[in-house]
Amino acid sequence: MIDFRLTEEHEALRKTVEEFAREEVAPVIGDLYEKAEFPYEIVAKMGRMGLFGLPFSEEYGGMGGDFLAVCVALEELARVDSSVAITLEAGVSLGAMPIYRFGTEEQKREWLPRLCSGEMLGAFGLTEPGGGSDAGATLTTAVERDGDWVLNGSKAFITNSGTKITGLVTATAVTGQTSDRRKEISAIIVPSGTPGFSVSKSYSKVGWNSSDTHELSFADCQVPQENLLGQRGRGYAQFLSILDEGRIAIAALSVGLGQGCVDECVRYAHERKAFGHAIGEYQAIQFKIADMEARVHTARLAYYAAAAKMLRGEPFKKEAAIAKLVSSNAAMDNARDATQIFGGYGFMNEYPVGRFYRDAKILEIGEGTSEVQRMLIARELGLR
Ligand SMILES: Cc1cc2nc3c(=O)[nH]c(=O)nc-3n(C[C@H](O)[C@H](O)[C@H](O)COP(=O)(O)OP(=O)(O)OC[C@H]3O[C@@H](n4cnc5c(N)ncnc54)[C@H](O)[C@@H]3O)c2cc1C
Repeated sequence: MIDFRLTEEHEALRKTVEEFAREEVAPVIGDLYEKAEFPYEIVAKMGRMGLFGLPFSEEYGGMGGDFLAVCVALEELARVDSSVAITLEAGVSLGAMPIYRFGTEEQKREWLPRLCSGEMLGAFGLTEPGGGSDAGATLTTAVERDGDWVLNGSKAFITNSGTKITGLVTATAVTGQTSDRRKEISAIIVPSGTPGFSVSKSYSKVGWNSSDTHELSFADCQVPQENLLGQRGRGYAQFLSILDEGRIAIAALSVGLGQGCVDECVRYAHERKAFGHAIGEYQAIQFKIADMEARVHTARLAYYAAAAKMLRGEPFKKEAAIAKLVSSNAAMDNARDATQIFGGYGFMNEYPVGRFYRDAKILEIGEGTSEVQRMLIARELGLR
């Protein structure tokens, strides 16, 4: 039996986050975005609501929910603003999840309570200035010295890595060579403020202006041996599995942005008049909005299907890649059409659609480009 309804708990969460986004995020985010300021107060409120702890068990300060709960929350936040949504997505899926999945009991007890409460953010350092799609081409190294790890190298475009509340970055680094002469890649937790770990100033970005993104560098940065996350040499595989889940989350975020475009356009089509009629009376506008709704509806089904497989414990790599591919396309197309429907006002920052337009493009790039999603889908079909 296929049942696309959310459970009572997920529906209650959806309503709570929808109200929060409308009442607490919408009134202030335009201004923060213009100034490229990180939304500290909003993040603190999301922390108090338990959003950063949604999929984690209560013993580590989480809410005992599941990954679909995170997706539902992301969709509702992104309907209003994507910088806030990506801050949550990266905090949960990239910052805390690697520790939850692969950390020792001690690491979990040390980091998770603060990451779950939102008082601390963690970051995920995979991409390097030399390339992100080919994640195995990591150049950053970590060598053992006097019982510690010493890291050298740099990471590019790392979300949540330089805020006042960032507590750690989990970085991939080459720790040796495998028996078949390939790079042995491991994941290592580097706490903020460790000598030799520096965070460059914020990038100037096209969109996601209120989210925090930096280049990071490690110069003889020394951390204790016990900061190794999971098994030595498993860092690459660990990060790839984190990205599989993350793709469903980015798909949910994309659906939210696409739905936000529909919301804004329906409202505007009733209000805006041209040639003596509301523009929503013209079939050209109606059809455009109908197409937008159809895209977002099918994209939502795609991410629900991927999340359902994941929650059932079945392989979901292909479905996650499909969800990410179609949802980010839908977000991009909806943002373009919404901007068109708003005419000149679509190009003005006073309406959210301009922000949606600027925020949509990265969805086809971050956590694996659309080309990488196609590669993953083709591989799952046996094309190698
Ligand atoms: C705002 C922002 C936030 C980010 N946050 C994080 C983060 O928190 N942590 C993190 O680790 N990374 C992060 N990233 C990095 C992001 O995941 C990468 O930008 C992305 O994976 C693409 O890597 P790249 O930019 O190096 O592009 P490249 O890998 O250089 O790719 C360039 C182009 O070539 C294409 N391409 C590459 N290989 C192939 C191929 N084999 N076949 C066909 N086409 C190919 C790509 O699809 C792309 O179009 C972030 C990026 C941005 C912009």
